[in-house]
Amino acid sequence: MFLNIKTAFTSIIKSSTWLKDEEKNLIIDKAEKIVLKTGYPKEVIDKDLMEKYYEGVEIREGQFLLNAANISRWTMRKNLAYITKTYIPDDYFINPTIINAYYIKYNNIVTFLTGYLQFPFYDLGHDALNYGSTAFSVGHELHHAFDTQGLMIKDGKVGDWWNITFQQQFDNRKKCFTNKYSQYGWGNIKVNGNRTIDEDLADHGGLRTSLLAYQNILKLKGSELKLPGFENYTSEQLFFLSFANSFCMETTEADKITLVQDVHTPLNFRLIGTVTNSEEFSRIWNCRNGTKMNPNEQRCSLW
Ligand SMILES: [Zn+2]
Repeated sequence: MFLNIKTAFTSIIKSSTWLKDEEKNLIIDKAEKIVLKTGYPKEVIDKDLMEKYYEGVEIREGQFLLNAANISRWTMRKNLAYITKTYIPDDYFINPTIINAYYIKYNNIVTFLTGYLQFPFYDLGHDALNYGSTAFSVGHELHHAFDTQGLMIKDGKVGDWWNITFQQQFDNRKKCFTNKYSQYGWGNIKVNGNRTIDEDLADHGGLRTSLLAYQNILKLKGSELKLPGFENYTSEQLFFLSFANSFCMETTEADKITLVQDVHTPLNFRLIGTVTNSEEFSRIWNCRNGTKMNPNEQRCSLW
């Protein structure tokens, strides 16, 4: 799946009408170097490695406060060593049972934790469903290598890797997304499109990439088996049903205020923001011009 996403991403970059050849090469080169880590760190199932990992932490029976302080000290030292690069982690940073995936900018690593690679996000038994859900997330994480911060880093070094023309074009395209997402919200509780831009770009790129990767698979297979109960839907429509399903959420009034303060746009607007900017979505669902999901307005596009 990861390789299929990389292949789809490469063809999207190659087909870009505004990127210059040398910029395409830089982007493709970085994408090819992205390493995927899945599951959990090896010390989880190896006692010796676990002992080594926690070397230096003093734990005494019955001394809970002291133990907590010792663990905090050990964690802080480890984090500081990472900043000075005297310690390069083969680390998952967070508990592998958490349902999450992330991109580490300096190391160019995408990590999918065990907690994520489970039903209902993964192992859905059907490529349309797996690609609409997990492959989208893979594409999303991959795009963090090319968001505002990601673009500043190449081979682990921060630098000015892009010329003025690229930067201007990129910023203009970003602005389209920022303006659109800033209109989303509940009454006066609005999304801050400037804050969420990197996540919104990753969503947009993730959807485009995972859909193309799935369409490539479909071409190879010819067709997919029908899903019982969903026989009237095409495979591409199933992809979108799975995509939308992973954005389901329940919101209370109090939640709304907190949700718009996050770097992620609230899930329902993430869904609307991605599909309304997808030409493919309108084609696949036969959305007429001027309908809610195919509004009469300029679509935003990154590449
Ligand atoms: Zn993200």
